[in-house]
Amino acid sequence: MAIARALALRPRLLVADEPTSALDVSVRAQILNLLLDLRSRLGLAMVFVSHDIKTVRRMSDRVVTMYLGRIVEEAAADAVPARARHPYTRALFSAAPGLLSPIDPIPLEGPVPSATRPPSGCPFRTRCWRADDACAAEMPAPHRDGGHLFRCHHPVPKGATDLELIDQAQERS
Ligand code: SF4
Repeated sequence: MAIARALALRPRLLVADEPTSALDVSVRAQILNLLLDLRSRLGLAMVFVSHDIKTVRRMSDRVVTMYLGRIVEEAAADAVPARARHPYTRALFSAAPGLLSPIDPIPLEGPVPSATRPPSGCPFRTRCWRADDACAAEMPAPHRDGGHLFRCHHPVPKGATDLELIDQAQERS
């Protein structure tokens, strides 16, 4: 019903903020397919907001990762998670359950800070296994690599696997 009301205004941009969070799994798939169909048939631009990052990837051309209200990475959907450079993006995907794949999360330790009183420097530093003094001193500037943007002083090396990142995180804990 909310989707029909929004479309009655003939928008060019549709913001779908957690559109399936309260729905049964069977209905959820129908709504997601409906949104994809509407986007294609009506030529809509769509911003799809969700904590379900695997669904975000399926629904999107580009994926934006936010932490404590800040954009920390933006990449083509087919570049994540394997080519994601921000530690939080990699940790998020590693912890997202799939139907067939087992969950093997990169361990994150340390407190989740308040969004209204974030720590100095990089807001993810209290939980990040790659954090050092530079991360506490200054918020990383945006770094561009083609169409890929990330904000991190020590980005995940290109080609690093989740298993390697899990080992690194376990060594730091
Ligand atoms: S800037 Fe530092 S703390 Fe922040 S994500 Fe990068 S390595 Fe981790």
